[in-house]
This record gives sequence, structure tokens and C-alpha cells, in this order.
Amino acid sequence: MPEFDLIDRIRQRAATREDVVLGIGDDAALLQPPAGKLLVVATDTLNAGVHFPGETAPADIGWKALAVNLSDLAAMAAEPAWCTLSLSLPDADERWIDGFLDGFLALAGQHRVALVGGDTTRGPLSVSVTVHGFVEPGRALRRDAARIGDDVWVSGTLGDAAAALEQWRSGASSDEALRARLDRPVPRIALGRALAGVARAGIDVSDGLLADLGHVCRASGAAAELDLESLPASEALQSAFAVPQRHALQAAGGDDYELCFTAPPDVLEDVQRVAAAVGTPVTWIGRIVEGEGVRVFDADGERWAPPRGGYEHFG
Ligand code: ADP
Ligand code: MG
Repeated sequence: MPEFDLIDRIRQRAATREDVVLGIGDDAALLQPPAGKLLVVATDTLNAGVHFPGETAPADIGWKALAVNLSDLAAMAAEPAWCTLSLSLPDADERWIDGFLDGFLALAGQHRVALVGGDTTRGPLSVSVTVHGFVEPGRALRRDAARIGDDVWVSGTLGDAAAALEQWRSGASSDEALRARLDRPVPRIALGRALAGVARAGIDVSDGLLADLGHVCRASGAAAELDLESLPASEALQSAFAVPQRHALQAAGGDDYELCFTAPPDVLEDVQRVAAAVGTPVTWIGRIVEGEGVRVFDADGERWAPPRGGYEHFG
């Protein structure tokens, strides 16, 4: 299939929105940002074999490529609006692109995100997405905004995606619920929006809780103390992995796409209220303290460390 036909196929299926003055088809898109808001921009790339197993279904790759980007917007408390899609494909296979679009556009539709442009080239399978969204000035959940005494919270459950990857790597049959967390992460957009003006610092958990909360601590010039037993675990994870491996997956596994955020203790009830209002569970897991780094304590009050750190590229 020629590149032109492939782009046309994408254009025909992509939805638009009223603030897209000109979408796919010209040299660039023309977009109308709302007055008085900041434009929030994030990019993430997925490479075959690095960010997803080679045999992953095209629809799952499409979903995940957008999901990991929307997760970055969620972590800034932004409302998503537009995206661009840069595709590198070994061959222009229309069945592959149709499957990819099924996943990509299903998630885009859920969040009213318009695909407004991109690039299509031949090469090893790689998908790069850029998302654009909006946030009110002063309300973004920045990494450098944690303060001593803040509570540390996390949404949903931790370790499920890493558990699925572990099962896949070891050749074991993978648990469906865990595998869904790996292939179809749900960006916490509604929670991020709800936390604007309530929480202080925030980050999405993509490289593992300890690594990502470590970024918040470094940027904020503070440390965090976490309660190991408080880290939320799904029932699927609890039945598939026993402690201590389960704890390692929760603390250091990656690909969770949950939000980890800090908030002063006096807004504890507000955090619980806004999270309940959007139907996303949140769990208190620790506190921001003086110093540096992230320390974890077990039920006996002993220092706990995972067998290995979070997933780091080229690490
Ligand atoms: P140019 O040579 O001017 O960069 P292209 O032929 O690369 O133009 O792209 C033509 C139009 O199709 C542009 O509007 C571009 O944004 C869009 N486009 C190309 N590839 C994609 C893609 N994978 N997804 C969405 N839009 C795309
Ligand atoms: Mg181009």
C-alpha cells in the first residue's frame, strides 16, 4: 500500500473537534487553544521489542502508544485535546494499520482527542505520539512541588503490568487481568483533572514507583518514606505472586501508568472526595520528609529495598 493511501486511511477514520481549524492533509495543522490556559505538550515513543513484546496485537500497540502519552498529561492535571502520530513501519500493511487504528482511535474517542497530523516512514516498527492538552495556570502537578510533611498517594494498584511481563518472560501462561494492565493501560485523566488545585506534586508511574517518586523527591529537594504494606495490590496480583516477589513488582515494576502525587495532610479528605467523585481509588502510601531519596519500611519498621531498581533504558 503506498504511503499516500495509508495516510488517507488514517485521515478518513480520525475524528475531529471544533478547535481543529485544519487537521490532517496540509503541511501542518492549525489549532485554536483556549484563552487563558497553558498548552501542555508531551511525547513518548514505543519501540517493538523494547516497550512491548514483538507479538503484541496491533490494536494493543495503538491503544498503548496513546495511553502512555495521555498518562503524562494526566500527571500534569491537563485536559487532553490533540495528538500527532509518527509511524515507522517495516511495510505498509493495511491489516496492521486498521488494527492499530482500532486501538488508538478507541482511546482517542474516550477522551475526545483529535488526531491532527503525523508522519509515516519505512523502518523498524516504532510508534511516536505527541499529545497536546490544556491546564489552568498554577494548577499543573509539577514534580518540583512536593513539600516536607505532604502525604504521598497513589491511584489504582501497582505491579500488575510488570507481573504480566514477568509471566510472559518466564513462558508461563499469563493471567488475563494482569495482561490487560500491560497491554491496555488506562490513563488517569479524570483523576489528574480532579486533583488540579488539590494535590501539589504529581508524576505518572511508568518506570516503577520508587524510580518515579525518586524524580519527585529530587526535583522537590526532599525525601519520601513509604509504608510497604500500604502499597495497593490487585487481587490478580495477590493470587499470582506471593511476597516478597509481589512487593518487588509493586515497588519497582514498571508500566503501571498510575498517578503518584503528594498533598498536604489537611486536604486528605478533599483528595478522597475528588477521587471518589471520578471513581478512581487512591491509597495513602507514605510521607514527604527532609533529606533525599525514597525509603521503604516493612510492617516491622525495618528498612526494605527491592532486589533491583525500576526499568531504565540503557541501564
Ligand atoms: P509533508 O511531506 O508535508 O510532511 P506528509 O506527506 O508527511 O506531508 O503528510 C501529509 C499529511 O498527512 C500531513 O498533514 C501529515 O500531518 C499527515 N500525516 C502523515 N502521516 C500521518 C500519520 N501517521 N498520522 C496522522 N497524520 C499523518
Ligand atoms: Mg512529513
